[in-house]
Amino acid sequence: MKTRKLLMIPGPTPVARSIQDQMGRETVAFGDPAFVKDFKELIEDLKVMFKCSGEVFVLAGSGTMGMEAAIANVTKKGDDVLVVSNGFFGDRFIDICSRKGLNVDVLSAEWGDTVPVEKIREKLKEKKYAAMTVTHVDTSTGVCAPVAEIGEMMKEFPETIYIVDGVCATAGEPEYVDDMNIDILFTGSQKAFGVAPGLTMIWANQKALERRKSLGTIPESYVDFEKWIPIMHDPSKYYATPAVNLVWALKESVRIMKEEGLENRYERHKKYAKAMQSALEALGFKLLAKEGCRAVTLSNLVYPEGTDDAKFRGLLAEEGIMVAGGLGPYAGKMFRLGHMGNIDKHDLVSVIATVERAAYRAGMNVELGKGVAIVQKSLVE
Ligand code: PMP
Repeated sequence: MKTRKLLMIPGPTPVARSIQDQMGRETVAFGDPAFVKDFKELIEDLKVMFKCSGEVFVLAGSGTMGMEAAIANVTKKGDDVLVVSNGFFGDRFIDICSRKGLNVDVLSAEWGDTVPVEKIREKLKEKKYAAMTVTHVDTSTGVCAPVAEIGEMMKEFPETIYIVDGVCATAGEPEYVDDMNIDILFTGSQKAFGVAPGLTMIWANQKALERRKSLGTIPESYVDFEKWIPIMHDPSKYYATPAVNLVWALKESVRIMKEEGLENRYERHKKYAKAMQSALEALGFKLLAKEGCRAVTLSNLVYPEGTDDAKFRGLLAEEGIMVAGGLGPYAGKMFRLGHMGNIDKHDLVSVIATVERAAYRAGMNVELGKGVAIVQKSLVE
């Protein structure tokens, strides 16, 4: 009999049955009054839950589209932009901004570390930046940036739009747009929301919306906030076809979150991350992210010397879990394990046991049950 494969890459994450059911519903017209009502409620919920007094956009597209949308709406050719990068996805902004003809300055951290807030402050003093991007959790490194602390510091730079990439963080790591002084936050449906890939959610505060207005007509059309504001206020209107079934799926994901409570969800992510990370370290893997800046949504695990990446991940797949490989300088040297979204205790115990079996079969010196015991203890503490 085939072993079921648990999807433990850092997105897409496992999709709960009730969310899948929404995707399997018979599709209706986007103008259908019941759908319009559902969409409206969803937008309102997203505003309230993530404390955004501005606008929320739910658009068909992936996280990269959120990156492009954020830049498109607050900058114009020739503007200076500061990219704060803690890895591969932070760097992606460099390409997006360069293509738009922006002047890009980059502050990069060593992989596994985060750029210190003081360094960002010093850089921002150098010139008038139109925008600054920060990746909350860079999926390539498992590093979590101090977005609230940076937001506080950004009060000293009111002319700079503070953009936060929440693709691997939102709904797993605390993020409150108004409270954290974030101007634009965006995420994708496939990570801590636990929906299939295909939607981008963007939160924009008044400052970002005013900047958008001040730009007049922008070169981009599909990601233009001004095109979508009337639709987000009244989804019976048309600009471009919404992903009807994914909107329903997202609504179900939000219902699950409300039932759990966002604060409880953040606590659960913290608890699960601690359990998994201590167990994986005890098995001989090394966390790439330094202590003090580790994400709770995923773990990036550097192999012990001599481990064959392809063989190990192949064995993991055989034993029943899918994980992701390392990126950039860590390709072949690390695997990435997601533990975000709608996963539960069953998943954690099962995943750590599977890692043990694969590590054992790969010839690593592991004591079967050692990681499981640590996870078990953490779960009853
Ligand atoms: N930002 C971060 C932090 C990500 O992890 C990813 C995807 N892994 C992206 C942006 C790009 O998102 P997508 O692949 O959905 O376009």
